[in-house]
Amino acid sequence: MKRYPILNIWVDDCTMETALRQVDSFIKSNTGLKTIFASNPEKNYSVPENKILYDSFKNADLLIPDGIGMVLAANFLHGAQIKRVPGCELMQNICKLAADKGYKIFIYGAKEEVNKSAAEEIQRTYPSVKISGRQNGYLSEEKMDGLIKRINESEAQILFLALGSPRQEMWISKYRHQLTNIKVCQGIGGTLDVLAGNVKRAPEIYCNMGLEWFYRLISEPKRIKRQAKLPLFAIQVLIQKF
Ligand code: UDP
Repeated sequence: MKRYPILNIWVDDCTMETALRQVDSFIKSNTGLKTIFASNPEKNYSVPENKILYDSFKNADLLIPDGIGMVLAANFLHGAQIKRVPGCELMQNICKLAADKGYKIFIYGAKEEVNKSAAEEIQRTYPSVKISGRQNGYLSEEKMDGLIKRINESEAQILFLALGSPRQEMWISKYRHQLTNIKVCQGIGGTLDVLAGNVKRAPEIYCNMGLEWFYRLISEPKRIKRQAKLPLFAIQVLIQKF
C-alpha cells in the first residue's frame, strides 16, 4: 500500500475494502500489535510538535484518509485517486468483520454512559460480536496496570481506543509493549459518542459534498479553534505544490 507524504504527515492509499483486508491479515499473521490512526489536516500541526506522537504516527501500520482534506491534498500533490475512509465507518466494519470471524473486541474510552450504550449498540447491530471487555476513558494512571491486565485476560485481538487525539496515540505508544494479545488497535476518537447517539454524524448530503467538517463546525461551534487550521492547511498545500 502506498503512503503519501502530505506536508508534515502522511496518508495511506487505502479503500474501505483494502483497509478491512489489512485488518484481517494483521490478526491472522500474528506478527505483533498493529496500529490504525486517522489522518486529517489538524494532525499536520499537532503531530510534529511531539516526538512520541510523531513516531507513533509515522510508524503506524495504517493511516486512513479520514477527512476530505487529506483526499484533496493527496490528489492535488500526488495525483492520487484516494477516497475517504471515515474512521467511524471503518470501526463499525471492523466490528462486522469481528462478528463474522469470531474475533474479540475491547472498547476503551469516552464517558461511562457513552461507552456502555455504544457497546450495547454494537452488540445490537452485530449480535454475534464478542465484546470481551470495555472501560470508560476516565481511569486514573494508577489503575492502568489493572486495565492492561484486564485487556490481556480478555483475549481480545482488537482494541478500540476512544480517548480523542492525541491522547489515544500517546496511550498506545506508552502501553503497546504490555499488551500481549491485541493484534489491531484503532484510534477512534469520538466515534463512541456517535454510536451512543450523543453526537450526530453529518447528513449524507454533507458527506457527499465533502462538507462533513462544515456540519461538525455548525453543530459544535467550539471546534472553531481546531478547524481554523483548515484554511492554513489548504494554503500550505498550495505552496508545496507550486
Ligand atoms: N475522552 C476520554 N478520556 C479523556 C478525554 C476524552 O475518553 O480523558 C473521550 C471523550 O469522552 C470523547 C473522545 O475522547 O468521547 C474525544 O472525542 P473528540 O471528538 O474530541 O475526538 P477526535 O475524534 O476529534 O479525536
